[in-house]
Amino acid sequence: MSQLLIKGGHVLDPAAGVDGILDVLVAGERVVAVGENLDGGDRVLEARGKLVLPGFIDMHVHLREPGFEYKEDVASGGRAAVRGGFTAICCMPNTQPVMDNRTVVEFVRGQAARAGWARVYPVGAISKGLKGEELAEIADMRSAGIVGLSDDGKPVASTELMRLALQYAAPFDLPVISHAEDPTLSQDGVMHRGRVSSLLGLKGVPAEAESVMVARDLLLAGLTGGSLHIAHVSTAQSVELIAFYRSRGVRVTCEVTPHHLLLSDQAVRDTWYDTCTKVNPPLRSPDHVDALRRALREGLIDAIVTDHAPHHQDEKLVEYDYAQFGMVGLETAVSLVAGELVGKGVLDWPQVVALMSTHPARILGVEGGRLEAGGLADFTVIDPGQKVTVDPKDFVSKSRNTPFAGWQLTGAPWGTVVGGQVMMWEGTLTAR
Ligand SMILES: [Zn+2]
Repeated sequence: MSQLLIKGGHVLDPAAGVDGILDVLVAGERVVAVGENLDGGDRVLEARGKLVLPGFIDMHVHLREPGFEYKEDVASGGRAAVRGGFTAICCMPNTQPVMDNRTVVEFVRGQAARAGWARVYPVGAISKGLKGEELAEIADMRSAGIVGLSDDGKPVASTELMRLALQYAAPFDLPVISHAEDPTLSQDGVMHRGRVSSLLGLKGVPAEAESVMVARDLLLAGLTGGSLHIAHVSTAQSVELIAFYRSRGVRVTCEVTPHHLLLSDQAVRDTWYDTCTKVNPPLRSPDHVDALRRALREGLIDAIVTDHAPHHQDEKLVEYDYAQFGMVGLETAVSLVAGELVGKGVLDWPQVVALMSTHPARILGVEGGRLEAGGLADFTVIDPGQKVTVDPKDFVSKSRNTPFAGWQLTGAPWGTVVGGQVMMWEGTLTAR
């Protein structure tokens, strides 16, 4: 069994009680020891000045395969994940065909195994064909390896179907991931409804389109005892509702994206209608952004995810009204979190480890999220001092749709180790 020794990094995992300048010894796909002055290793990697963290898990990614491989595929998305410092990702089921049955789940897992970059955990559809009418084959998909259920991209408009999903998923310990949006309130809105949308003459989506559905799903989680995970929270009311029902014992967790923490609806105006700012849920007004940052700091939000949503540039180089929703995130998230959240005192590194590794592993019920002897050798290594300028031309993703081009940030992914295999080191991907 080949051995790997990572020497002299700042090893940090609050959940495992580790925080110090230490070595990590790996044999095969597992950690053998974490300690001072360890010996051994067929391969020794120097990590002085770097943070060595349990592998980051992005719970919310669109890999676009099968069906939309011109935007991204399992291999290119897995590679972009590793490049961005993620050792594992969850992929959403809004593919073509929809991932609502065993065959598609097995296909995606097979593609991921063949590609061999990040671990890929499929999320199965709640409803057949994402139509919101009847439940997909949940038990069958569970035995094929899904880690959660979601109709993400679309809300589950039927309250009864959402109730059934939460009830049915509960014994399987599958979180139901809610894309919370009331379609009768959001209609054909393209940005947050408020002062800026009026000024720009664009159709707005009110904050309540999200919060109403968050409230509904919390009530249903309470009713059924199911485990609910709210995707990409974007409003002040959503986090208040979640905190309230959580305090009353409802099984609920939630996630937030870097873009909802760092950009407001003013970005649509400031970029002159750059369609890379068009995302669902929309970038909200600054009061919502402030509320999200406060909730994050106070521990009311469980995870940071990218909602990586690749699109071809032809789908973005159109009028704002006609552009597709979504932006890529796998290759910018770590630097945005390092530079804009840790660097500006919103979060510290132990909180980041919890939000991007420990909690996602726990919510999904997957191994990982711990850096300790006996655990999986999945690591995210970060150079906290590296200065980077975001340049979409450098992305290994097939798509370039980011509103963060040109941002200057401090802190960058430097190494990614998945199951003891070094996928990236010194910022350079391992050829494969
Ligand atoms: Zn969504």
